[in-house]
Amino acid sequence: MSDCDLFSLATTGVQALSPYQPGKPIEELEREYGVTDIIKLASNENPLGPGDKVIAALKEELPELARYPDGNGFALKQALAHKHAIKAEQITLGNGSNDILEILTRAFVSPEHEIIFSQHAFAVYPIVTQAVGAKAVVVPAVDYGHDLEGMQQAITDKTRLIFIANPNNPTGTWLAKDALQHFIEQVPSHVLVVVDEAYFEFASEAEATYPDSSQWVDTYPNLVVSRTFSKAYGLAGLRVGYSISHPHIADILNRVRQPFNVNSLALKAAEVALADTQHLQSGIQLNAKGMQQLVAAFTAMELDYIPSVGNFICVNVGDKAMQVYDDLLYQGVIVRPVANYEMPEYLRVTIGTADENTRFIEALKKVLNK
Ligand SMILES: *Cc1c(COP(=O)(O)O)cnc(C)c1O
Repeated sequence: MSDCDLFSLATTGVQALSPYQPGKPIEELEREYGVTDIIKLASNENPLGPGDKVIAALKEELPELARYPDGNGFALKQALAHKHAIKAEQITLGNGSNDILEILTRAFVSPEHEIIFSQHAFAVYPIVTQAVGAKAVVVPAVDYGHDLEGMQQAITDKTRLIFIANPNNPTGTWLAKDALQHFIEQVPSHVLVVVDEAYFEFASEAEATYPDSSQWVDTYPNLVVSRTFSKAYGLAGLRVGYSISHPHIADILNRVRQPFNVNSLALKAAEVALADTQHLQSGIQLNAKGMQQLVAAFTAMELDYIPSVGNFICVNVGDKAMQVYDDLLYQGVIVRPVANYEMPEYLRVTIGTADENTRFIEALKKVLNK
């Protein structure tokens, strides 16, 4: 049997799938380019890392590793329920919020269904759609943001799910409270609306009209809100995210997920990180300052950028963006090209510490001869 035959055994949706392209790891750059003293601003990670309290709690947890984790995540769900003023039955825990997005499609979407999302939207939406063999309905963006009217018009009897990233990655664009609530209100009850709030903590700091849609789940039973500990809480390596929904949706998701999808270290770290509001706030403030630093630099260099409320920003470096990306790698700075998001002239940069931002700005100036 040749390799080609094996490929043909995969479902049609999976065959047409391109794998998710992660940011280049530091070790890979060292190996391939021989560069040292590398900074990675490519995956929207928290430049402060996890807080000291999380690290201490993890050390304490290590001797328990022979045991299975709590498959119901009781303690973390209690803490989350308290934080959001909801019932624990409304929460589903995931191995990162990616897991939640994938479980949602597996639980609710069949090949005859359609899933709607925006052009330039987060790369995981097309992946989970194609993995279940459903049809992706991609609605053209307006000014790089979601066109809610267009998305509304794209709904058919076959639509089962709509993904909305607020704010969106990689564009950093966001939807204001009134516009998003009005949209959700109009969506028929046979369609689930998934609002992905991976950058909630940064966005609510940056923008007064940015909504907390977790407050709407009691009003709209077809609304699912996803959150993560990967970004503002600095736990991307541990993989923990969650959704807030009607208890019936959570019940369905719980039937499909792996019984121990969130590991014991992740459960413990998330619980401690949630309580450590001081560390969270430090990261949010650092991000706000870093965003100003980058925007000021782009303005001084006369580079267009897309205003962002996340911990990242897209900057237009012209039609040689891939070359600029590569030149930056030689300077030891890893950012993210977004040509695969139909944004070939842009690079996405994660906000780092003040020093990291300065290094990126200096490297960019050098590479662009500015
Ligand atoms: C980073 C990100 C996530 C979070 O992924 P995890 O699986 O929780 O690490 C989800 N949605 C968007 C839009 C993101 O950018």
